Amino acid sequence: MDLIRLEQLVRSEKAAKAFFKRFCWPDGRPVCVKCGHEKVYRLGDQRLRCPACRYTFHDLSRRWISSGGLSCRDWLRLLKLFELGLTANRMAPQLRLTYNTVYKAMTNLRLAILASGLDANQLFSSCSGLDLGQGGPEPGAWNRYPVFGIIEKQGWVFIDLLPNMRAETVLHFNLNFSLKLTRLGNIVYTDRYQRYDALIFCGDDDLPLNYVNIRGKGAYVDSLKGSFWNYARARLKRYNGVSPRRFPLYLKELEFRYNHRDQDLIPLLSERLCAQVPEYAQSPSRCVADASVANQ
Ligand SMILES: [Zn+2]
Repeated sequence: MDLIRLEQLVRSEKAAKAFFKRFCWPDGRPVCVKCGHEKVYRLGDQRLRCPACRYTFHDLSRRWISSGGLSCRDWLRLLKLFELGLTANRMAPQLRLTYNTVYKAMTNLRLAILASGLDANQLFSSCSGLDLGQGGPEPGAWNRYPVFGIIEKQGWVFIDLLPNMRAETVLHFNLNFSLKLTRLGNIVYTDRYQRYDALIFCGDDDLPLNYVNIRGKGAYVDSLKGSFWNYARARLKRYNGVSPRRFPLYLKELEFRYNHRDQDLIPLLSERLCAQVPEYAQSPSRCVADASVANQ
């Protein structure tokens, strides 16, 4: 989106909201966000009501965009700065918002990106130590360090969550089967493994990362020029001290950015931001239950 168009849209809340509304109702026709009923009507105050379930809602209700209390103008300006790769620290003064507000909004945007992926259900519902950004549960030891596989084919990258693989197992492969490992701070990645260019996870002080047996120099992904890993490594270095809980958010953001690297990100981000928050992402308490079952 060019800057002139963006300027026009952020000049009024009405224009900015109209922009996002198009992403909420791609067919132009609102439907009930609760029961899916196709004939809803508008009330005098512009809210919508469903005749089937009596639910009353706004165009932006139950969507990622409605969490965090930002106006549509603020969201649009934030999307532009996000596209440019600014950190929350640098964005806050430009947006005239507090750091916490911007940080929460960016977390929601990253969750929206993650939720658009094919493995979103698995990532959310297995609660892979994910920082849900809503005061979610502290993850237990179970799946605290989710392991992902990276595959790149013809310029597209796929970052798969490997639910049955644990970080401890990867370390074990390193010690016993000489699977080459490389570290980037707390981030550990391997040489080629099965169909993956690399396995990757983010650890912390509770994992014996200092004992990682690094043989030789550079994993397979380090030898690829102009690849996803080249692109991601430089960016991951900028996120000072990535935590295991936030790592999946950053990784999925990088996957999104890389796969759309030549495109205008604002419409793509708006589409994700205006998607409905899936049921499985709404209740962090369910993750606690899941984790306790898995620990038994
Ligand atoms: Zn309804």
